[in-house]
Amino acid sequence: MNVTMSYPLISTEGELEGFALAGLELSFFQQWLDLIELDHYNSITIYDLNSRMLARNPIAPERIGSQVIETHLNRMASSGTESHFSHRIASPVDGIDRVWSLRRIGELPFIVVVGEPTSAALSNWKHLLYLYLVTGSILCLAILFGTREYVLNLRKALKMQQLATTDYLTGVANRRLFNEIAQRNLSLSSRNGMPLSFIMLDIDHFKRINDRFGHDIGDEVLISLSNLLKKQCRKSDVIARWGGEEFLVLLPDTDVEGALTFSERVAQDMSLVNLPEDHKVTISQGIAVHQAGETLEQTLKRTDTALYRAKELGRDRIELG
Ligand code: GH3
Ligand code: MG
Ligand code: MG
Repeated sequence: MNVTMSYPLISTEGELEGFALAGLELSFFQQWLDLIELDHYNSITIYDLNSRMLARNPIAPERIGSQVIETHLNRMASSGTESHFSHRIASPVDGIDRVWSLRRIGELPFIVVVGEPTSAALSNWKHLLYLYLVTGSILCLAILFGTREYVLNLRKALKMQQLATTDYLTGVANRRLFNEIAQRNLSLSSRNGMPLSFIMLDIDHFKRINDRFGHDIGDEVLISLSNLLKKQCRKSDVIARWGGEEFLVLLPDTDVEGALTFSERVAQDMSLVNLPEDHKVTISQGIAVHQAGETLEQTLKRTDTALYRAKELGRDRIELG
């Protein structure tokens, strides 16, 4: 059996990015409780908010994981506000008459119950308090560190995934991610009949830019192009770096006129990018709208052919595939 906790992941901008789920084995709680030395007939038990016993010292293996029916415990478990309660009753687990203290630990979904034989408790309430503090602190720290470690690992995994699916220079999708999203859009478009447009863009004579101004300026041109594509795109559009200086854009729910408008705006924005010596950067573009029954590869082939024609016809232009 496991105890599962969820933890919201909030970005630095304050937006909800997702949830981390931490699963803790029941033995985790028992290990911590076993560290506490108890006098004879004292007991410490951890319950969840369904009154299920998660761990007990002294251990009661046959009861772990089962729900305990006890009025005060059940009431506290279902109450969102009650944080502590004390009473005296014979234990529902081993029948010993004890004074019980039930306590919620901060915001955590657990109740710690400490029981001391009635006779001892009456003369020894300070010890009871001490047991609470120790158990509560151990539990808080253990869960906090466990969850923190888990969240850090999850962040690392998300970062790795981002590195594996995006282009390091421009931050746009790589081929792998683009293909995955494009396939999903293709299925969606064949079901709902919405048009799906593809635009392939290639910087003209990019080699000359590199040769004349250096590789760093070349990189800046690539970043400028990706930035102005991002600026023109809607949330549902996808931009990918398809090759060295070649980008591919997917425009869902966009027909050929919409795609043309998009391309013209990008070409216009690109003409405003300033290079040293007043050099102007131009781009060639090929557009294809997905046709019914066509595979992704076939549509991309037509997009590529249109781009090739744009190059053949003198560059700095848009051709339809
Ligand atoms: P065309 O008009 O026919 O497209 O000519 P072109 O010079 O743009 O095309 P070509 O394929 O001959 O050269 C592409 C150049 O892009 C060569 C390569 O060094 C450069 N390139 C590829 N990736 C990068 C990169 O990440 N940064 C920079 N600065 N240059 C790159
Ligand atoms: Mg080129
Ligand atoms: Mg090229």
